[in-house]
Amino acid sequence: MKKDMKFIFVTGGVVSSLGKGISAASIGRILKRRGLNVFSIKLDPYLNVDPGTMSPYQHGEVFVTKDGAETDLDLGHYERIINTSLTKESSVTSGKIYSSVIEKERKGEYLGATIQIIPHITNEIIKRLEDGFNAKGDTDVCIVEIGGTVGDIESQPFLEAIRQMRRDFGYKNTFYMHTTLVPYLKTTGEIKTKPTQHSVKELLGIGIQPDALLLRCEVDINKEAKDKVALFCNLAHNAVISVKDVPIVYEVALNLKKQHLDDLILKHFGYENLPSADMSDWEILIDKIKKLKDTINIALVGKYVQLHDAYISVVESLKYAGYELNKKVNILWVNSEYLSEDNIEEKLEDAQAIVVPGGFGNRGIDGKMLAIKFARENNIPFLGLCLGMQLSLIEIARDVLKWNDANSTEFDPSTSHKIIDYLPDQYEGIRLGGTMRLGEYDCKVVENTLAHSLYKNDLIKERHRHRYEFNNEYKKNFEDAGVVFSGINPQTNLCEIIELKNHPFFIASQFHPEFLSRPLQPHPLFLGLVEVAINKK
Ligand code: GLN
Repeated sequence: MKKDMKFIFVTGGVVSSLGKGISAASIGRILKRRGLNVFSIKLDPYLNVDPGTMSPYQHGEVFVTKDGAETDLDLGHYERIINTSLTKESSVTSGKIYSSVIEKERKGEYLGATIQIIPHITNEIIKRLEDGFNAKGDTDVCIVEIGGTVGDIESQPFLEAIRQMRRDFGYKNTFYMHTTLVPYLKTTGEIKTKPTQHSVKELLGIGIQPDALLLRCEVDINKEAKDKVALFCNLAHNAVISVKDVPIVYEVALNLKKQHLDDLILKHFGYENLPSADMSDWEILIDKIKKLKDTINIALVGKYVQLHDAYISVVESLKYAGYELNKKVNILWVNSEYLSEDNIEEKLEDAQAIVVPGGFGNRGIDGKMLAIKFARENNIPFLGLCLGMQLSLIEIARDVLKWNDANSTEFDPSTSHKIIDYLPDQYEGIRLGGTMRLGEYDCKVVENTLAHSLYKNDLIKERHRHRYEFNNEYKKNFEDAGVVFSGINPQTNLCEIIELKNHPFFIASQFHPEFLSRPLQPHPLFLGLVEVAINKK
């Protein structure tokens, strides 16, 4: 048998978008609170090497890890809910698996063998899972979520790999958890378990007998239905868990704990005498959220606003800041493509603060710049993120410095004022060959600035995902126009944070602070924004 590594495998059946990631992360939170070190891996069956090049409309936000991996947004749930920091080993796609197998084949590493899904692809998957387990060096339990739905062609190699893992790593080290949808028929008040039975059958056909079933349902699954599922699916009664729809995502963890799912898993793994999970901080938080009455309106001006998942970390960050300050944040979704001088007042009149998030490509940038100008001229608290910072500088260059053609070379390579530019020489010594600045970098926070008053720190680390940078040649002109460069990368001198002198709260960062916000630990930039917005009301 292989080394002593413990894995929880989370699969899904019946339909997609069941909230598997939330359930997996919630278990992670509970196990962490029981004193275990938890690592998470998401296996995505698509053939893209990473979601970095996928449209947010396809896949929602791209979440960036500390070490610069562009990953599925579920990793954001894991980091926030477990309160941990993951790595590039946390994101494994079919694209990654296949390309590395084919590369090895080309190098002749398989010594003439015929390369097949089983064992070559499956072995590569297992190797990635071991690498993930070992990534941090202190992992006790690794939670592996298999994207897609059981029965999909794409996810079959992943399921086959995890099936083999029980044989290789041992029964006691592998725990299979299957999540399904249980329809509730309102008219008759009935809970229907048949789709779940079929889904488990499908899983059994692959050779996996689940050790626990998580039944997602509009209502609580009663004892009778649990017993029925347990009988038909060959499980103990306490291994059938009800995952009722809840308005607040953190409640999932409390519900799982209430049904002792953690005890079941730990017993399976042979852990004894671990302290019980203290979740009181979340209980208090949930209670607080439920009682919140006051709301604050924050406009999010972006081009993917129809799909809220495209900005999920930004929205979560705003919510956390609101909770801290006893306010419910109401997001006003403003599509920048349809913002014009004629409708901007009407679209933004209810906004107590404005956020312009990151983005790529020139669609919708004019609307974003109108929103920036509106915030700047009307003293509305403003936070710009990545592209939001770049566009703030372009807007100021055009409107204040009167450089009408000022632009980013991303949008106009021939402009005579390259305010934002691709500056390859600035990357020397950072990351050879890469064209994007990805992951965590240092930022020196300049004293006596808004940024410093928020961070209360001279040196911070924040995550990046962008290609273009502010062109320091223009720094002096901007300073003369009232811009303060309050965050600088100490190694490269690249601009990280800007703010405006004569404005109650106008701040923008080249990095993405939204990736570091956690429930109960709101990020200083978001907290500052919401606080000023509340006080201005
Ligand atoms: N498109 C810009 C760049 O590549 C900003 C990217 C972003 O907002 N994440 O630099």
